[in-house]
Amino acid sequence: MSHTGGAYITTAFLENTLYMIKRGVELGGLPVEFYEALSKPKRILIVNIPVKMDNGKIQYFEGYRVQHCDVLGPFKGGVRFHPEVTLADDVALAVLMTLKNSLAGLPYGGAKGAVRVDPKKLSQRELEELSRGYARAIAPLIGDVVDIPAPDVGTNAQIMAWMVDEYSKLKGYNVPGVFTSKPPELWGNPVREYATGFGVAVVTREMAKKQWGQLEGKMVAIQGLGNVGRWTAYWVAKLGAKVVAVSDINGVAYKKDGLNTDIIAENRGLSGPSLLETFVAKDGAEHIRNPDAIFSLEVDVLIPAAIENVIRGDNVGGVRARVVVEGANGPTTPEAERVLYQRGVLVVPDILANAGGVVMSYLEWVENLQWYIWDEEETRRRLESIMTTNFNRVYQRWEREKQWTMRDAAIVTALERIYKTMKTRGWI
Ligand code: GLU
Repeated sequence: MSHTGGAYITTAFLENTLYMIKRGVELGGLPVEFYEALSKPKRILIVNIPVKMDNGKIQYFEGYRVQHCDVLGPFKGGVRFHPEVTLADDVALAVLMTLKNSLAGLPYGGAKGAVRVDPKKLSQRELEELSRGYARAIAPLIGDVVDIPAPDVGTNAQIMAWMVDEYSKLKGYNVPGVFTSKPPELWGNPVREYATGFGVAVVTREMAKKQWGQLEGKMVAIQGLGNVGRWTAYWVAKLGAKVVAVSDINGVAYKKDGLNTDIIAENRGLSGPSLLETFVAKDGAEHIRNPDAIFSLEVDVLIPAAIENVIRGDNVGGVRARVVVEGANGPTTPEAERVLYQRGVLVVPDILANAGGVVMSYLEWVENLQWYIWDEEETRRRLESIMTTNFNRVYQRWEREKQWTMRDAAIVTALERIYKTMKTRGWI
């Protein structure tokens, strides 16, 4: 760890993210000042949120909203509730949003919010108070054409409902477009619940078509049974793959002939560990106790869909998949990626693979700003078409530059759009 000379102590995740940008700037032949422009966020808000706990005592939770870059449009990115999140990690996540939104062709800059809390340890009432408190604390810096938060790890549609309600009360009128991924009954869209996983599945299918001609019958292992992991499992199976393993902190559920992923849609309310148990109890899956076993299974596609830095120098040797699709943000360290690259394993990068969430956010936001509603099929069709186009754009770029990784192609494509816009606006 080293000090950045700024407001925060850096972390490996931030270092890795900045390294990727630097590399992208170099590969794309872009000027070094452009790297300088992107290496620090435009604005950081640090908040302290009081919550009256069920035991009657006030507890304070530290939170952030990092607004990284708004050259392409309003800031956009999720809010993470996680016990170990740091400000520097939040900066890294905001940087990734700038790239992701650019790559997806959206009219958004990048931001990310976080609260250092373990949401599983709060009661519903405490969680509501914290969510409303966070919305009030960041209210001066957000808005439906300013900065539009959404869920991320540890947050969900109910939390967005509380936040949009709190913000609307502050304003004195309804502001549906200030948060995205709201429940369908509160200006949300039914596709959002599964949008990120659906997008990961669509990208996996497109990659499989290039690699093997089709996704049909390919064996897939998915790490993580949160929102992204579970819906990736569900949709990738619907699109023809054989999901042989899913994992959570409590281990791996493995079934050689393929898990019955309909269990996921039938058990929407279950936590990750309970879903894992259901696969073992109801689907006859084998329970492997070591969660890290997921990384070394004999599969065609490995999809890390939980958190950052899980495929690292120390475990990358065990990876046997030919393709890694990053459902999570930053799951592969640069060191691990170099090893995979040398072995010819293709990594479909996070900013491409998991953009379904924010693309869906964009569709919901467009609906909200117009007070318009698309039905589920129409929305899913639009989402699928945007994801497929984005994949092909990156793939074609990568095909022209075979010595690059697919991440390089994605980052350079994303950076070029930001750079052109900055130039046009006269920012650099
Ligand atoms: N948290 C999601 C992401 O990392 C979605 C962000 C959004 O919809 O604004 O992409």
